[in-house]
Amino acid sequence: MRACPISCTAVKQQFSTCSRKPKDVNQMTRGNPCQLPGMLPNYDPNDSEAGMKILEDLTENVEQIQQRVLEEIITRNARTDYLKGFLDGQFDKQVFKKTVPVVNYEDIKPYIERIANGDSSNIISAEPIIELLTSSGTSGGQPKMMPSTAEDLHRKTFFYNLLVPVMNKYVDGLDEGKAMYLLFVKPETKTPSGLMARPVLTSYYKSNNFKNRPFNRFNVYTSPDETILCSDSKQSMYCQLLCGLVQRQEVLRVGAVFASAFLRAIKFLEHNWKELCSNIRTGHVSDWITDPGCRKVVSLVLNKPKPELADLIEHECNSKSWEGIIKKLWPRTKYIEVIVTGSMAQYVSTLEYYSGGLPLVSTMYASSECYFGINFKPLSKPWDVSYTLIPNMAYFEFLPVKKKNEDGAQYVQCNGVCKENCMEKETEKEDVETVELVDVKLGQYYELVVTTFTGLYRYRVGDILMVTGFHNKAPQFRFVHRRNVVLSVDTDKTSEEDLLKAVTKAKVTVESLGILLIEYTSYADTSSIPGHYVLFWEITSKGNNHLPVLDHKIMEQCCSTVEESLDSVYRRCRRKDNSIGPLEIRVVQHGTFDALMDFCVSQGSSVNQYKTPRCIKSGEAINILDSRVVARFFSQKAPFWEPV
Ligand code: AMP
Repeated sequence: MRACPISCTAVKQQFSTCSRKPKDVNQMTRGNPCQLPGMLPNYDPNDSEAGMKILEDLTENVEQIQQRVLEEIITRNARTDYLKGFLDGQFDKQVFKKTVPVVNYEDIKPYIERIANGDSSNIISAEPIIELLTSSGTSGGQPKMMPSTAEDLHRKTFFYNLLVPVMNKYVDGLDEGKAMYLLFVKPETKTPSGLMARPVLTSYYKSNNFKNRPFNRFNVYTSPDETILCSDSKQSMYCQLLCGLVQRQEVLRVGAVFASAFLRAIKFLEHNWKELCSNIRTGHVSDWITDPGCRKVVSLVLNKPKPELADLIEHECNSKSWEGIIKKLWPRTKYIEVIVTGSMAQYVSTLEYYSGGLPLVSTMYASSECYFGINFKPLSKPWDVSYTLIPNMAYFEFLPVKKKNEDGAQYVQCNGVCKENCMEKETEKEDVETVELVDVKLGQYYELVVTTFTGLYRYRVGDILMVTGFHNKAPQFRFVHRRNVVLSVDTDKTSEEDLLKAVTKAKVTVESLGILLIEYTSYADTSSIPGHYVLFWEITSKGNNHLPVLDHKIMEQCCSTVEESLDSVYRRCRRKDNSIGPLEIRVVQHGTFDALMDFCVSQGSSVNQYKTPRCIKSGEAINILDSRVVARFFSQKAPFWEPV
């Protein structure tokens, strides 16, 4: 086991004595006595007490650590093309904040593209960029690409390790069994310069940090690495479930990264339990599992025929209702670890149904840009979850997001009913002053801006957060919503603009037949797994108010056109991951959108300013639309997708 070379008190001293602020970059680079590699304290991850102590130190010394992080990032990167243009060799926090602009992806895209095409990565980062992480946020229909460095993998490992002591504080005995975490890798490509481009989790699972992780008795998985790293998602899922079922008596917690992925696994189990049981009964893995790594490790886990175990699992799976199935199949399970905040909140009730009341635990808040925060109260209810930003992960700033009525501005309308999460005005101007991590105010809404160790400077992440409290001196945030996202089923993030473009393309087909689309709205239907997008269309014949005769083929073509026009993350989820079902258009009777308006007005929307919400989340509003549906059509083919 790795020894802890730096005691936690020493860590605290090192962070807290680092308030000395050099006046210029040269002075910074002359060597700083309190320098720790990448600001990452080392400790034994099996030592929960040491982990908790580190978290206490980090959250107590937020201000000093944030200053050190910024100093460190600027010291390292002041000579990059990007920063040189703004800082001109000076280091001063005020100069940084005055001259370096707050940016969106479009502003830095040219730099990222230059690196992807073979330019040296030191145009933005002194540390070599070793790969590009493809985000679920898109730009021009393609995934955004975020820089990553070798050191960044250590930062992620440090972060993951800190989740362990937090769980141990609330749940005893996690070292007395295993975790059935269903983890998957996704397709990857190479940029013209030969850099790997892949999602952040795929990058992490394929790294040595994951593959050669030291044994941690609190973090033993039922899934052998070979099954996680298998690129065939069906074989991977089958093998991971098989291993999880065989080791059911050892399983103390189950989970996946996102709620949507976990529910997909339950659906997979519903379709495949007979075959899984037959494999357990005979001790022989199905022949279609052809991945050699998977076959080898799963055969070892299966070991020998286990007819009694197969009978038991078959008995549970055979029951009419699958309510509480998780507890029945994995009886020692203490909780389900899946992210259920943000767009994943829509899965809470389905998870509760299958889990039989087990706690749903969202441990962390992270992105391709950077890992941000940890949930210090993992057993809190999904709607109460807050994340504490970890101050040595990046330099954090916050753009205030104004609440309704503060200055009579336009409001984001993301729902038929005005709820808390649609009461903000988004900050579009980039000259708005940012606020530092230690200066955020309780109850206020902010958009997160990060300066990372990997070459992003004052970058708008696009997430809107609300301050809910403090852990020591570190603020805690509730994830409110993502800027400009109206529809999301899995990792897809569709904006109102994306939807409008796609609908505009599709309606051309019906317009040529003398049919007008007069109103539309949408919602993500997650009542079945996988969920799918539903569009409500009110259509009429040109020249009169009659509902036209609808041709199935034409309407199905409209569904496909919408899907083909959505961004590449949607199309990947739909085609490759099968995590989104076929898009549906529900045609509603004449006058339905008037009824929707009446409802929204009755809920507080102003009649004068009323605009049809392009996405509906309120159950009542959906019922109003659904009760007026006259015809339904589904996309008949998955849209085109290939890795880029
Ligand atoms: P990606 O860059 O594709 O990894 O997506 C990162 C984004 O996913 C974040 O910026 C958030 O919008 C969302 N996200 C990640 N973790 C959480 C969480 N715990 N709760 C809510 N949303 C999250």
